[in-house]
Amino acid sequence: MTATQGSASTEVLEGDILHTCASCGTHLASAEDVVSKGFQGKHGRAYLFSNVVNITLGEPAERELMTGTHTIVEVRCVSCKQYHGWKYISASHPNQSYKVDKFLLELKSMKKVDQRKSEA
Ligand SMILES: [Zn+2]
Repeated sequence: MTATQGSASTEVLEGDILHTCASCGTHLASAEDVVSKGFQGKHGRAYLFSNVVNITLGEPAERELMTGTHTIVEVRCVSCKQYHGWKYISASHPNQSYKVDKFLLELKSMKKVDQRKSEA
């Protein structure tokens, strides 16, 4: 399977289970890079990832979350510009600092692909 043709070249991830863009199928993250599954995005459940590829980042913005003020940037698919979530740039509370430089991606915006099943 090849990524959707476009001006930007996209990185192909290795791994048994991948999270891809629900709109265009571009690889975003491996299930091995999930830090936490207990997160909440704008539109529902979300996962926290330590590493995400094939995204563009927006302008820094402050957001009031249940756990205090965080500076975040919006994360979008590099191919189709689908909104996926955000990256944490800084956190006001020291006990939230584990999130900094990590990515929150909303489950609704992604497709889970099990590569083991696609091989007959
Ligand atoms: Zn996409």
